[in-house]
Amino acid sequence: MQHIRNAIRNVPDFPKPGIDFKDITPLLASGSLFKEVIDAFADRHHKNNIDVVVGIEARGFIFASALAYALGAGTCLIRKPGKLPHTVHRQTYELEYGTDAVEIHLDAFQCGQRILIIDDVLATGGTVAATAQLISSHFDVEIVELNFLMELDFLNGREKLPGQPIFSLLNY
Ligand code: AMP
Repeated sequence: MQHIRNAIRNVPDFPKPGIDFKDITPLLASGSLFKEVIDAFADRHHKNNIDVVVGIEARGFIFASALAYALGAGTCLIRKPGKLPHTVHRQTYELEYGTDAVEIHLDAFQCGQRILIIDDVLATGGTVAATAQLISSHFDVEIVELNFLMELDFLNGREKLPGQPIFSLLNY
């Protein structure tokens, strides 16, 4: 995994001072590394009968769609407010200052489907916790696992996700 880690660029003070941004564009630009990442998730789930891979806007879409293709699953978009065209369910969540929200189409899943949620980074956990809450409060589906390319351990995002199965390919 060190070669994958080497392809993730640290950009200090982006988008604001004090944030060490994990830039995945060098990894995405490498056909072999991107394939290796998707294959790692696909190997993990190939026997898990995943019906739908859920991607969180925006970089989560990249991983969700490739992984869904690899698994022969569908994919579903979790978006920021006002982006989805059809009727939505919405879940708000707290930010350091103010609130944000995530939305999903109200017909995103069928009853009993097995769902995998994926994003590039688990940071404070607020976004994925809201996503999991959004799904579990409106749909009768099983969330098999929450997956991340990388997890920023020092932000303790897992504390917002008690009892939920989490897997991260890399830890920082
Ligand atoms: P959070 O809700 O704090 O877990 O933040 C999750 C979202 O913010 C993810 O969708 C990430 O893409 C993005 N994000 C948060 N922190 C970083 C970071 N240091 N580098 C890159 N993306 C980040």
